[in-house]
Amino acid sequence: MPIDPTRPYDDDNIFARILRDEIPSKRVYEDEWAIAFHDINPQARLHILVIPRGKYVSWDDFAAKANDEEIGGFIRAVANVAREHDLVQPGYRLLANVGHDGGQEVPHLHVHLFGGQRLGPMIA
Ligand code: 5GP
Repeated sequence: MPIDPTRPYDDDNIFARILRDEIPSKRVYEDEWAIAFHDINPQARLHILVIPRGKYVSWDDFAAKANDEEIGGFIRAVANVAREHDLVQPGYRLLANVGHDGGQEVPHLHVHLFGGQRLGPMIA
């Protein structure tokens, strides 16, 4: 069920629990600002989720409340994940669903990274 991105942060959301290692995940990257792990239900040959360590419900919440260091650190982390998976030359796709109409299901900001294949056109 898509979420309301303006609601307060829920400390027990599934990605908060993955961050605290209370739930297992296939982690592929971590640094001061972010962690990345494989999506449990991959929609491409490679489907990784990158999430900030900070408690932000959505992209909008992050842009409104995070400081520039956190924002820069997160964006670089996403790029690092792609680079470490040798995706820069073949290319890849980033996606952030926001709120109800965006179809966001988990109320902790996450960027989907798709790659490892020629991706089709985006379908709304
Ligand atoms: P959203 O629709 O919120 O943008 O995407 C949520 C994503 O999280 C979905 O692609 C879904 O497969 C993934 N997901 C949901 N629960 C889990 C989980 O427990 N572990 C992992 N690794 N991915 C999850």
